[in-house]
Amino acid sequence: MNAQPQAVVPAPLRDRRQRPLRDLRLSVIEACNFRCGYCMPADRIADDHGLDSAGRMDFDQIHTLVRAFARQGVTKLRLTGGEPLLRRDLPALVARLASIEGIEDVAMTTNGTLLARHAKALREAGLGRVTVSLDALEPTLFARLSGDRGRIEDVLAGIEAAEAVGLPVKLNSVIQRGLNEDQVLPLAEHFRGSGHVLRFIEYMDVGTCNGWRAGDVVSSAELHARIHARWPLRALDAQYRGEVAQRHAYADGAGEIGFVSSITAPFCGDCHRARVSADGQLYTCLFADRGRDLRPALAQGEDALADAIAGVWQARADRYSELRGSPRASGRRVEMFLVGG
Ligand code: SAM
Ligand code: SF4
Ligand code: SF4
Repeated sequence: MNAQPQAVVPAPLRDRRQRPLRDLRLSVIEACNFRCGYCMPADRIADDHGLDSAGRMDFDQIHTLVRAFARQGVTKLRLTGGEPLLRRDLPALVARLASIEGIEDVAMTTNGTLLARHAKALREAGLGRVTVSLDALEPTLFARLSGDRGRIEDVLAGIEAAEAVGLPVKLNSVIQRGLNEDQVLPLAEHFRGSGHVLRFIEYMDVGTCNGWRAGDVVSSAELHARIHARWPLRALDAQYRGEVAQRHAYADGAGEIGFVSSITAPFCGDCHRARVSADGQLYTCLFADRGRDLRPALAQGEDALADAIAGVWQARADRYSELRGSPRASGRRVEMFLVGG
């Protein structure tokens, strides 16, 4: 009997800590229509903040970039910003990216204010799911947290529109001590039983413009205790290795809720994520001080780009969250609105 020729399966790309490259978080725009204090405080980042929109990659460049990442093992793509819905013709980009071989999942993180307008086109283009960031339901507080630029009604309308077109929705909330702590139970109550999973993300020391202080963090353990006291929770197993949220079910059957403990329980050992800013800088850690400019390789084409990505990933040893507080972890860090979370 003749043996069938075996397909050559490339060895997965691994970094210096043996972590494969699986996820790409791609910022499509550095601008935002909000000025959240933990990300882009209005007194630090002016409306005309001097970022260079001319440096943004165009759709052809982004397409080539994602193809090169897919060749290196990326299966999950998340579009982010700044505010991704400010990028003109985003559905056309989503359609191109969703059809790339190897990309199994295209998601987006948004502040939700423009979602009602674009949900249908995004769904039709192949967007698989959306995460809406929402830190308060109380209208005045919501407006304040957005830097007096957002309205809660628009975000809730965006969530409804996503639901109406069959786009699965998750919610991300960041709670800061003394600022929006009183929103924890209202947020949990609002989304219990809705079918949408709410996840609390610990406030992180990303970038340097937010003036982060450890005392402003409300830990996952504390948030869990508060919610559990009101609606008992039961821990769920992780769905896959490297899942960042600790998942819990409401014991009364009202669905699921999650906690992401980037500060109190770092998960660097399972970090499979690369980040690329809108101007083509590759960051191998959310807390990196600088990126690697992929545009020179991009100009040479997909093969050169795939090689450049491999070189950067194989040299990667990042584990900032495990070193937080040590002298090695101090100093300059990229801002959140450039790498998108
Ligand atoms: N503008 C979009 C949005 O807000 O969803 C996408 C970009 S935003 C940078 C991505 C996520 O980062 C949001 O869920 C936001 O809450 C989160 N974020 C921003 N600054 C943060 C910080 N210092 N700590 C934790 N999460 C933060
Ligand atoms: Fe904009 Fe999102 Fe940053 Fe808020 S968290 S300022 S919505 S990029
Ligand atoms: Fe990944 Fe860096 Fe976060 Fe660790 S600190 S989980 S390496 S992004």
